[in-house]
Amino acid sequence: MAAWLTESVSDEPDALSARAEPPSDTITCVDCGGTAHLITPAREEQLWFVGDIVAYRCGDCRDRWDLVLE
Ligand SMILES: [Zn+2]
Repeated sequence: MAAWLTESVSDEPDALSARAEPPSDTITCVDCGGTAHLITPAREEQLWFVGDIVAYRCGDCRDRWDLVLE
C-alpha cells in the first residue's frame, strides 16, 4: 500500500516550481520608448519562478507594465 502511494505522488508535474531567468532591471516602455524600472522586489533567496508576475514603472509616462516570467 505504501509503495502504491509513492508511485501516485511521483506523477505530479513540477512545472509550477520551474526556475525562471531573473527579470532585467529595466525594460523599454512600449508606449513612449522611455525606460521602465523593475518595481517588484525579489525573494530573499533572489529566486524567480516561471509564472511569477513582475511589474515595471515607466519613468517618463508613469505607465505600469506587468510581465509574466516564462
Ligand atoms: Zn512610458
